[in-house]
Amino acid sequence: MDIQAQLEQYRRTLNEWNHRYYDLDAPVVSDYEYDMLLRKLEQLEQEHPELITPDSPTQRVGGQALEAFQQVRHEVPLQSLQDVFDAAELNAFFQRVGQQVQSPNWIVEPKVDGLSVALEYVDGVFVRGATRGDGQVGEDVTENLRTVRSIPLRLQDAPHRLIVRGECYMARSVFQKLNAQREEEGKPLLANPRNAAAGSLRQLDPKVAAKRRLDCVIFNIQLTDGPSFETDSASLDYLAGLGFPVIEHPVLRTAEEVSEWIAALGEDRERYLFDIDGAVVKLDALAGREQLGETAKFPRWAAAWKYPPEQKETTVQDIVIQVGRTGVLTPKAVVAPVRLAGTTVTNATLHNQDFIAERDIRIGDTVVVQKAGEIIPQVVSVVREKRPSQAQPYRFPTVCPVCGAPVRRDEDGAAIRCTGAECPAQLARTITHFASRGAMDIEGLGPAVVQSLLREGLVHSAADLYTLDPARVAQLDGMGEKSAAKLQSALEASKSRGLARLLTAFGIRQVGEKAAQTLSRTFRTLDRLMQASEEELVAVDDVGEITAQSLLEWFASPQSQHLISALREAGVSFESREQPIGEKLAGKSIVLTGTLSRYSRSEAKQLLEAQGAKVTGSVSKKTSYVVAGEAAGSKLTRAQELGVPVLTEEEMIALLEEGTAAPAAQTERE
Ligand code: AMP
Repeated sequence: MDIQAQLEQYRRTLNEWNHRYYDLDAPVVSDYEYDMLLRKLEQLEQEHPELITPDSPTQRVGGQALEAFQQVRHEVPLQSLQDVFDAAELNAFFQRVGQQVQSPNWIVEPKVDGLSVALEYVDGVFVRGATRGDGQVGEDVTENLRTVRSIPLRLQDAPHRLIVRGECYMARSVFQKLNAQREEEGKPLLANPRNAAAGSLRQLDPKVAAKRRLDCVIFNIQLTDGPSFETDSASLDYLAGLGFPVIEHPVLRTAEEVSEWIAALGEDRERYLFDIDGAVVKLDALAGREQLGETAKFPRWAAAWKYPPEQKETTVQDIVIQVGRTGVLTPKAVVAPVRLAGTTVTNATLHNQDFIAERDIRIGDTVVVQKAGEIIPQVVSVVREKRPSQAQPYRFPTVCPVCGAPVRRDEDGAAIRCTGAECPAQLARTITHFASRGAMDIEGLGPAVVQSLLREGLVHSAADLYTLDPARVAQLDGMGEKSAAKLQSALEASKSRGLARLLTAFGIRQVGEKAAQTLSRTFRTLDRLMQASEEELVAVDDVGEITAQSLLEWFASPQSQHLISALREAGVSFESREQPIGEKLAGKSIVLTGTLSRYSRSEAKQLLEAQGAKVTGSVSKKTSYVVAGEAAGSKLTRAQELGVPVLTEEEMIALLEEGTAAPAAQTERE
């Protein structure tokens, strides 16, 4: 067989296997066999790159990353649907259609909660795929769609031109796995499968999209120069014959049948691999559709029934508190098991302390729960009449249920947070932050390594990093002797980062890099800082009352004390590396403009600040001096207008040394 024929045979076989696996749900070979053949094809294509075709199954793995998506104007707009929310609205729809079309047939379809896309084929080859966008103009996401296994890249016996419309979605099971993985990696969780699908389809790097394992289901022909049909159902059957994963679309004869189908679907939503947010009713006859036409937004021949979120009553058996990675205490109601939107619910989110207090939710209460798109159901309300007489108002804990450290309410929100420096619930995050760039800058200690260290029980606090046994570290997944040795020297180097970095690494609330530097420059050593009174702290620039309070609380906690003494023992430096604050320019406010020759802007800023000056970005009457370098611009003009003294770089240096200046510019002006 020649190479070309061999390649084609591999591709045909793989495409067939794909179709059976994804569209027909009837795999004929194991994943292993599939991967082996794919590998063979890849190898052959690598040897003959000129023979790679865009419809090759190897192209599904994701090509080059894009800078941005191209816009695509849809030849046939991707319209929206008219919503109906109750039986009366649905009947009105039936009547409107019935006035123009005699004894209509209906097709009903689940309304997939995903993302609408248009897929374009030329001579049977998938050439372009676009998101719906505003219905008229969408984005070209062809490369990402190529990675969706249920989208055929090549069709058999297809017309010259064909554009179909469908819905891309992330299967519930894939979504759950993805979130479990994100949780493990400490990444924020995705809200629901719809958002996850939308985010994945709009990834600029198709390799990321490929990993997300999206799926697609087709529900319409947008345009074709192929055969014409009398009914929508016939056109969908035709698409199924071409190899598309077509949506379920029973044809029903009466309004009653449609209503029954909609009701049954609402009860049986878990039957589908995807989330559905409604049912779509469409007139089957295409001539009838033509006759009814459309409004500016949606066709007059279709309606989308929206299911209200299902609600059920249940009882609160307990209220438990979970401590998240960021230390936030989240209350959760443990409820008596109840069936809701296709799953058995045993707990419901209570959001935060205020949510419980506002609704006065108590253990023993009967509550109404609902699920609306999200994974975890919510408590909607309390059924007061059913409250047991002994039920007590719920008291939110004042200490962390995991580590016992005091909790504290965020100044700017409803969240209650644990303040424990060594709280096990937050350890992954605390340690990753400790090792991060702006903090102790420990190279090689990213979230994945931190996770393995925790999993193996090798660290229980940031201080344990310094007593790690390199031989043991070398045995961790993905490590080895070389990486372990590197980590060891990075840890060694981090010991001398100095007080400012250490304070940042502690992750004390309100104490960011800037405040940490000022504190370090002012107090010089950690021990001196720990002895500082509230007044002394508040007197420091960048430290207000809230920050001072936060520092005092943090240092007072036994966990922090333990951490500090372990770090001291490990030989971590508690000394400031910043220049002490001079007094020469205390109270002066200075603006830098133009390019200086001896110093960069940030060096000059540091020098001035080290002498107590405040360096700001804009000139006002209160500005003490403007230092103007080469090509100074509007700030210089503004200084001259306001009569603010202007200094040259040399004059600035003199100012730093002597603390006074007689600026030339000012003399000139006088
Ligand atoms: P809406 O977003 O409420 O305007 O509803 C219209 C959207 O429903 C369309 O843009 C499609 O993305 C989506 N949809 C999901 N399933 C279907 C279906 N079976 N038929 C038509 N549209 C559907």
